[in-house]
Amino acid sequence: SLLERAPDLAAANEILHRVFGYEQFRGKQAEVISAVLDGHDVLAVLPTGGGKSLCYQIPALLRPGFGLVISPLIALMSDQVNALLARGVKAAKLDSTQDLNQRGDIWDAARTGELDLLYLSPEALASPFVRDKLSRLPVNLVAIDEAHCISQWGHDFRPEYRALGQVKALFPDVPAMALTATADHVTRADICAALHLDKPVEVVAGFDRPNLSLRFVRRKGAALKEISALLQRQKGASGIIYCGSRDGTEKLARALTLEGFSATAYHAGLSANIREDRLKAFMAGPESKNQAKIMVATIAFGMGINKADVRFVIHADPPSSMEAYWQEVGRAGRDGLPASGVCFYAPGDLGWAVRRLTLRENEGAADQSVQKQKARDFFATVLGPDCRRQAVKRYFGEEAGAACGTCDNCLSRGRLTDVTEPAQMLMSALYRINGARGRKKLVDHVLGKSDRPDYTTRIKTFGIAKGQYDAALLTHVLDQCEAAGVIAEELYDGKMPIVGLRDSDLLKQLFKGDLKLTAKI
Ligand code: ADP
Ligand code: ZN
Repeated sequence: SLLERAPDLAAANEILHRVFGYEQFRGKQAEVISAVLDGHDVLAVLPTGGGKSLCYQIPALLRPGFGLVISPLIALMSDQVNALLARGVKAAKLDSTQDLNQRGDIWDAARTGELDLLYLSPEALASPFVRDKLSRLPVNLVAIDEAHCISQWGHDFRPEYRALGQVKALFPDVPAMALTATADHVTRADICAALHLDKPVEVVAGFDRPNLSLRFVRRKGAALKEISALLQRQKGASGIIYCGSRDGTEKLARALTLEGFSATAYHAGLSANIREDRLKAFMAGPESKNQAKIMVATIAFGMGINKADVRFVIHADPPSSMEAYWQEVGRAGRDGLPASGVCFYAPGDLGWAVRRLTLRENEGAADQSVQKQKARDFFATVLGPDCRRQAVKRYFGEEAGAACGTCDNCLSRGRLTDVTEPAQMLMSALYRINGARGRKKLVDHVLGKSDRPDYTTRIKTFGIAKGQYDAALLTHVLDQCEAAGVIAEELYDGKMPIVGLRDSDLLKQLFKGDLKLTAKI
């Protein structure tokens, strides 16, 4: 087989120097490449800009035949192919814009050994014609870029990626590689299973971005006011603001423009033309008349966007998982210069996130418990006291290392308030009311608010927090109970999302004072 003649890492080094003109391998590139050269399937989780492309380009060049690269980003494929051609690498891409002649030429090159790398979209691989052709050609490895898209637990699931489940069966004798910048344990396992990877070697690195200072800020006033105050301090800098809704992006971009900032909005509801124009405006340098310094966007904006001098990423609304957060905040500071990530959150955001997932289940979607757990884990970090950078690294399974000294938690140690007591009040109310309560009702109950007397107004927890804690704090504390796993969103009567007690052991610990909850107030 091809693998028996696998060249070693010295040959890989030679290609790195001669073809790509680089001194040495970066990060874990060599580890990935030698695993592939040894014939293993590989899952590589390496940071954006970390050099994932070389991980498949070099092994593909070292073998007879060509490497097949599957990427969802057609625009980026062209860039890569052009860059490779400029270095004398025989690369091509197959896509829907090509006519039959062009395609014929590519197939000919592939057959006659005149091809090193072939780039393909997942949709193209779904075509039986293309698959049939490829199965008779000398493919030497299959690389799946942005592999997290195959996982429904990932932050950017794409249904067209499902077709990639057949890749292993189509090319059983060559290594398959899955590459992504961001995937937690659950997503990694899901990627490997969905792609049927065979005992994959997992290489995970790069959840450390020393130039990023991370901050989570509990929003007290209107988003616009807080955000524009932040922006005033970074006038002229380029940045991205993520919003939870399409409507929110438009409104915020308009409001910021009125305040004199150069901002534009981006979301999946806009036509392709408008999106392209706005992306161009954002990518443009300061010399351009149409430059937009600030992109206000939904999560539709991001994958494959490679602007080096993004100085800040602001989350006007928090994302719902650490994966999404890291992917998004990671777009700041690609040039290695100092950059910041500021994520706003408000009391009830976690409650809202799990509620939305519960409603989605109720509308017939698949079980969302994995997503809910991801939301809880993320908010446990957001609401927690640990160094942000350590928390991120720990979450992704990297060595936590030293505290960063620059994040909000590192800078504000000691300013956490113990909120175990209001949590006990809320939980004992929930316990007595037998669970069937919405969050707002529960908060109203401990505050002693009720439209009309009923059995709940006679329970002794009615009004227990009145005069001591306000609704915002109590809502915040409910989020912490959810993040800590004490309560969980569930469906009442098969349709109404309510909070229910989740873990009676944790509840006991909370009542005994063994489980302490803290908040930044
Ligand atoms: P990713 O796909 O992981 O986001 P790329 O493969 O696009 O990253 O690589 C990012 C940049 O780093 C590219 O310009 C690439 O040429 C460069 N690069 C990759 N590996 C090395 C290396 N070993 N030494 C120097 N530059 C490298
Ligand atoms: Zn820190």
